[in-house]
Amino acid sequence: MELPDKAACYRALESRDPRFDGLVFVAIKSTGIYCRTVCPARTAKYENCTFYGSAAAAQEAGYRPCLRCRPETAPELASWRGTSNTVSRALALISDGALDGDGKSVDALAERLGIGERQLRRLFLQHLGASPIAVAQTRRVLFAKHLIHETRMTMTEVALAAGYNSLRRFNEVFQNLFHRPPGAIRRKSTTRPSADAGITLRVRYRPPYDWESMLSFLEKRVIPGVELIERDKNNQNGCYRRTVELDGAVGTVAVKNLPQHNSVSVTIHFPVVHALPAIVARVRRLFDLGADIETIDEHLSNDPRLAPWVALRPGLRAPGGWDGFELAVRAILGQQVSVSAARELAGQLVALHGRRLPKNPGTYPGLTHVFPTAKHLAKAKSIGLGMPAARMKALQALSRAASHDPNLFRPFGTLEEAIALLRNIPGIGEWTAEYIALRAIREMDAFPASDVGLLRGASKLDGAPATPKTLLRRAESWRPWRAYAAQHLWAAHATDISNQNVSQTGGEHA
Ligand SMILES: [Zn+2]
Repeated sequence: MELPDKAACYRALESRDPRFDGLVFVAIKSTGIYCRTVCPARTAKYENCTFYGSAAAAQEAGYRPCLRCRPETAPELASWRGTSNTVSRALALISDGALDGDGKSVDALAERLGIGERQLRRLFLQHLGASPIAVAQTRRVLFAKHLIHETRMTMTEVALAAGYNSLRRFNEVFQNLFHRPPGAIRRKSTTRPSADAGITLRVRYRPPYDWESMLSFLEKRVIPGVELIERDKNNQNGCYRRTVELDGAVGTVAVKNLPQHNSVSVTIHFPVVHALPAIVARVRRLFDLGADIETIDEHLSNDPRLAPWVALRPGLRAPGGWDGFELAVRAILGQQVSVSAARELAGQLVALHGRRLPKNPGTYPGLTHVFPTAKHLAKAKSIGLGMPAARMKALQALSRAASHDPNLFRPFGTLEEAIALLRNIPGIGEWTAEYIALRAIREMDAFPASDVGLLRGASKLDGAPATPKTLLRRAESWRPWRAYAAQHLWAAHATDISNQNVSQTGGEHA
């Protein structure tokens, strides 16, 4: 999207309009500071304000982040830029570390997206007002600031976690930007959490957020031993917990909703601090925290039949996948069987092949294993599940493909190209590829039209039987957010099932 005109931005600033939070940042000439539109400070004069479409653009123009409204806590919108899917994909790759560390380049990033480096820069400038490198650097320093504010990590740990090679380099960057050393912005606190408490961060989203629908979707699909959902006695305040494996290190993460703050609280126990950004990126992806949900809901409401469903579940998100390989395995296990049968198979796979979680801080009753890696399954002589041979072969082919290409489940080219790449793997058909694209690669226009749950939801929507072909035609007007329409169809279908108290039988894919 292009930035709204200055008068509209200024009105948003004057009214502290939360709908602009994360989409527009205001830089104040007289103070050299940039703010969120919801900053509680007195509104600056019109002539002193310049508006930017990203924090990176304001920083590139020489402004420092406000210490009061903390631009690093603005909802980060990855998937709203529907006008440029390439920019969305690039942002997803950058948050996965595509520009962090040695040997990473904008060239390689552009190549993965199927465009030239100059074209990528141009798109970034047009949509974000900043270069890809500036976006990556801004993310790093803002993430560090977030950690300084919200945790008691040492500055060395913060520097490492935010991807700086040395404390000295981190101090330099910080001093340049804030005109003070990192330690100076930390609030004094007398309480020191115990070493076992882990690291807790808040990650903001744009309201509304239909947390209950998100949790019940995940709950039906939890992998025994790897994930669990807890609620209090009144069946409220649900919390999602799971085990985490990254580059051989293991830990846990817990996520709960803080609706009064339009945030989720994320508690991480993990032995390697520089994995923190990757873990937070996964939480953002799984819980779809980057959605510009109002725009999406508005767009889907243009369909007169879908509108009442959107009104029934405002803020319904499209759940992502924690890990591409895990999600793809689950998709294969789910071919031709019910959701609960797929869940059971996944639990057996974990018990047979997953690594046991060692006892350490963050261990939680019920979380016993990490999900098996692609390498492990590719080498396993036998997978040992009661499944048709064809599906077993598909599982092995998938494991081999994923262990050869660690980026298999990251954005690649266009949606069609990503689907084609996945379909090269024996045993991955149209439905599975679309499902993986939707949940793991986060292609928000992916749409597994042959899904039985979707077809049933669509039949209910139109009061007439749907086929994959009619549904695809029907879905044209839902672009570029067909994934969210799919979520509404699934949700409506799931409610039907629980209302009638009928157990799910074969053919339920997602
Ligand atoms: Zn401010």
